[in-house]
Amino acid sequence: MKTVDIVVPCYNEAEVIETFLQETERVTSALSAYRFSYIFVDDGSRDATLSILRRMQAANERVHYLSFSRNFGKEAAMYAGLKHSTGDYVIVMDADLQHPPALIPKMVEQIEAGHDCAAACRQTRSGEKGLRSLFSSFFYRFSNSLSDVKMPQNAVDFRMMTRPMVDSILSLSEVERFSKGIFVWVGFDTVWLPYNNVERTAGKSKWSFRGLLKYAIDGITSFTIKPLRLIRNFGLVLFLISIVYILITLVKTLIMGIDVPGYASLLCVTLFLGGTIQLSIGIVGEYIAHIYLEAKDRPIYILKETDLKAEKADAPREASR
Ligand code: UDP
Ligand code: MG
Repeated sequence: MKTVDIVVPCYNEAEVIETFLQETERVTSALSAYRFSYIFVDDGSRDATLSILRRMQAANERVHYLSFSRNFGKEAAMYAGLKHSTGDYVIVMDADLQHPPALIPKMVEQIEAGHDCAAACRQTRSGEKGLRSLFSSFFYRFSNSLSDVKMPQNAVDFRMMTRPMVDSILSLSEVERFSKGIFVWVGFDTVWLPYNNVERTAGKSKWSFRGLLKYAIDGITSFTIKPLRLIRNFGLVLFLISIVYILITLVKTLIMGIDVPGYASLLCVTLFLGGTIQLSIGIVGEYIAHIYLEAKDRPIYILKETDLKAEKADAPREASR
């Protein structure tokens, strides 16, 4: 019998995880040729998530959980879940039922047909705020135009993958993870399954506009160095223009003498150059920040508690990357 691990990152999802398990079990119990297990990753929740997970684990031997020492973010939670998975296949999905379990049989079908990965993509973005939609479509267009890693705009982190693909994702050990890009970067043959956007069952989205902005900048700077090349080229063009302008000014001064007016042009050039330099330093800084974070080589997450611990020989305080 083939085994499938379902990895579920949970941050303050006490209101929905039980419904999530019920709904998912209803769908997966029909797929009798597979043994489904769950790896819930409590990402430092401050509500009753962990105690509910303990209870669910005691009641169902196919339910497992990992609990972080604090909130490390969804990317870290997904990584931890994948790392602890042992199944032939792994499914990653959200706890809030925004990723419809009804799609699982279709994913299984596609994987059986020989694909390495079956991933969900949103057909509609109904229920999402206009500004967020706009921002998101701008981000994908901008990022894809810069990067060689082309991310499909409506892709979500709901997918079923084969073991070789999971292992290759785990082999990318960067601390600042951007899964949407990593999934594309590792390659493999992915088939897309469209679904209609659903609203959260309960609780609220953990994303703030600021969080999304940081996520977008990380997405670009993790997968392309084109912004660095862009400012280098721009600097080069500015340098060449300035040499020409210096020569013209020198020759003009020698022939026609010193002319005093020029406040407006000086001000414009100063402001423009100041702005450009500031922006360039900012972009370089983003990359230096990445180098800094990677160089510190801190673990991606710190585990505080898990029922899987017994099977592993390592200390209870597993730090992993
Ligand atoms: N999540 C997490 N850690 C976080 C934020 C979110 O593990 O710091 C989980 C959350 O519990 C949910 C999934 O990631 O299962 C998606 O989060 P959310 O629904 O808030 O995002 P949205 O659906 O609005 O993109
Ligand atoms: Mg959600």
